[in-house]
Amino acid sequence: MLWLMLALVLMFAGCSGYSKDTQQQSVDGTLQVHYIDVGQGDSILLIQDEHSMLIDAGDNNCGTRVQSYLQSNNIDTLDYVIGTHPDSDHIGGLDVIIYKFTCNQIFMPDCSKDTKTYEDVLASAKEKNYQITSPVAGDTFSLGQAKVQVLSPAVNANYGEDANNNSIAVKVTYGNNSFLFTGDCEEAAETDLLNSEYDLQADVMKAAHHGSDTSNGREFLEAVNPEVCVISCGEGNDYGHPRAEVLNNLRDLGVEVYRTDEQGTIVAVSDGTDITWNTQPSQSWQAGEPEGGSQPEKDSESMGAGQPVSMEATYILNTNTMKIHKKDCSSVSDMSEKNKQETDKTVNELEAEGYEPCKRCEP
Ligand SMILES: [Zn+2]
Ligand SMILES: [Zn+2]
Repeated sequence: MLWLMLALVLMFAGCSGYSKDTQQQSVDGTLQVHYIDVGQGDSILLIQDEHSMLIDAGDNNCGTRVQSYLQSNNIDTLDYVIGTHPDSDHIGGLDVIIYKFTCNQIFMPDCSKDTKTYEDVLASAKEKNYQITSPVAGDTFSLGQAKVQVLSPAVNANYGEDANNNSIAVKVTYGNNSFLFTGDCEEAAETDLLNSEYDLQADVMKAAHHGSDTSNGREFLEAVNPEVCVISCGEGNDYGHPRAEVLNNLRDLGVEVYRTDEQGTIVAVSDGTDITWNTQPSQSWQAGEPEGGSQPEKDSESMGAGQPVSMEATYILNTNTMKIHKKDCSSVSDMSEKNKQETDKTVNELEAEGYEPCKRCEP
């Protein structure tokens, strides 16, 4: 019986089409990539067999959410923790993770920031007697059977105090599949990557900087040539992410898009040949920027708590994305005040007006 199953598996593997890479590493098991919904920010958990890596941990108010997510995946030790760069929407929750989990290696770029958030991370590492090291482009390490290659920052990179461009970028390869994570790298780092010796091609890319148009340049997207792009951003965020120009380029290039602002946590599972997803691609192509003009990019430290919500209101509407939220939905605190509207109407009445229930809080 086992032989029959094995023969069937081999048969299917044999007819599953092309192989992109002749130097394929044979792997067994799976690589799971969880793009955890942390609102406006990044947090990505990779699991290969009993090995795991966390890339970023969302903003300060997300540490516990990420902690619970890791615990629900039976993680108590992380082989690697990467704080891509010292902005709060990436390392805000990292102090909680460092306190609560055994972290075998912690990586952050050689770029500091004079904020309490950054100091909290350093303090948590010190408390646990952990060294934080700064990898550079060309470094490689293994996550079980997955290979991790650091692509940026280059040894001689000089981005000064520009946190975003100093982001640690890695490509993770598992069998024939590959995933690219470039943190918040912007045009300068993307240009250096394009001019580097590295093979940028990846099946899946995380949109850099939450889908900002100061990143994700057309030439860069063409070099990565992904089948899928995952955008990690908060619904109705104040930065207008993702930007229309980026979405238009992705659509034009035939790239499927998944988004945490619309779909919550996105999970990809690779068996080394095929990648399966926990949901269907987004079809909305809805940009985060307001119509008729661009908003200035603000510093990521300024995630406001927003106005208190009155008790009479039944639901909170996002008049930009046309979504209906429960009052306690995590999206509400990320929402720009300008797009926020309270209502005591019913879901049916609101749907008749063209609103849709949020998939996360399911009003
Ligand atoms: Zn940033
Ligand atoms: Zn960011």
